[in-house]
Amino acid sequence: MPRTLIWLLAALFSFTTVVPAMTFSSLSVQQYNEFKQPGLDKPQLVHSDIAPVLAQHKQNPLFRFSQLGQSALATPIWQIDIGTGPVKVLAWSQMHGDESTATAALMDLLNIIAAESQAPWRNSWLDRLSLRLIPMLNPDGAASGARFNSMGIDINRDAKALQTPEGRLLMQAASEFKPDFGLNLHDQNRFYAVGDSNKQATISLLAPAFNDAKDIDDARKKAMQLIGDMRDLMANELPGYLAKYNDTFSWRSFGDTFAGMGISTVLIEAGGHPSDDNRQVARRLTTQLLAMSLSSIASGAYAKQPLSAYQAIPFNRDGGIKDLLINNLAISVNGNAAQVDLALDLDIEGAKQARIRDIGDLSIYGSYHAFNASGLRYQPAKAYRLDKPLTLDDSGYLALLRQGYSHFTGDGSLLTISTALPVLLNPQGLSADAPQRNRSATFLLANDQGVQLALLNGQLLDLNRGKLLNPLGT
Ligand SMILES: [Zn+2]
Repeated sequence: MPRTLIWLLAALFSFTTVVPAMTFSSLSVQQYNEFKQPGLDKPQLVHSDIAPVLAQHKQNPLFRFSQLGQSALATPIWQIDIGTGPVKVLAWSQMHGDESTATAALMDLLNIIAAESQAPWRNSWLDRLSLRLIPMLNPDGAASGARFNSMGIDINRDAKALQTPEGRLLMQAASEFKPDFGLNLHDQNRFYAVGDSNKQATISLLAPAFNDAKDIDDARKKAMQLIGDMRDLMANELPGYLAKYNDTFSWRSFGDTFAGMGISTVLIEAGGHPSDDNRQVARRLTTQLLAMSLSSIASGAYAKQPLSAYQAIPFNRDGGIKDLLINNLAISVNGNAAQVDLALDLDIEGAKQARIRDIGDLSIYGSYHAFNASGLRYQPAKAYRLDKPLTLDDSGYLALLRQGYSHFTGDGSLLTISTALPVLLNPQGLSADAPQRNRSATFLLANDQGVQLALLNGQLLDLNRGKLLNPLGT
């Protein structure tokens, strides 16, 4: 081989090994875990959860903290400015108080930006971008676990009326800062599937429209191209779990309004994932998407994305995911036998009333929990009437369930519960001879050997093992 060719190959090799290190394609899971802010793995974050994290970064000269204003109930709302570049990026989280996943991601992002080991990445965009972060725009809603602010107003339907102090502050930040890019961070309901698949939409993205015709101007085109880069990241990190949010124009919403102001706006929705009640998977992905976006916006790399990459992302399918699917359960109504699937809604956040929501061929749905009931038949719930004191330990309780009792009625003070298994007292709305929609998810599953499982307010108890198959909270 001629020496010049060897030299060329060597140069080419060193070139291809240097370039990826400079372009920060994505933060690895291992790197992420190193910077993940402890103490935020919770279903709901409030202002006191993030105040210590912000305080810890306040003295860092990289970050310029200022108080943007305060909420209706006078909780401070902070903004953090980073970098000095000409391209401006505004990111805000938790304008819906009960959507805190991305607030944790912004705390993680602060840790990553502050990390000395990440200085090469940070320095690659610090003089190209001016980044403004507004974590937890709705601290009052966060405190009460509500979507709305303390006046009962949905801040994200207040972009035109501007009647909430929080909405006015966000509009003020956008009007004064004049961002090129806006990153609008939310949580979406856990029942969205990715298109026709049975996978959860763990992340959904959208470049919101600025009119009913969903026209694409230059600003929206850039947002779509940035989402193209986000799609590549998701394809590497968690293939199959990315969807696109509903793109119907929403005149009163901030994302759509900002899009109309010429801001390239990207909506990032954190969603559910199996065995991940606190959305820590979506939190990590949101952090990775944010970190990658800073690199891509600073370098202009997103501009290489074709719009077809954005268009190829499947839309969210509402109700495509169920909490619990019980498949192939034998039922019979007036001699009409069938094998059906049941979909159950566990209402984890609300009154914890598990309900039967759908019956039939439910093979098009995905679920957080699934149980194959082949060989088992529906047996209606049956009451054990309390008329004298009863102490319930594991073995006594399991014996009653095997006898076909599913719950207790009468004077609850007669019952002493000495088991950690779920026990139902005077439940309402039970199904009769066959499962019925919107009735309580409480019945028994039996075969010719007798009762094998009990479904107790949505929790499946295997009587032979004395074990819950889908304990709530997992
Ligand atoms: Zn939201």
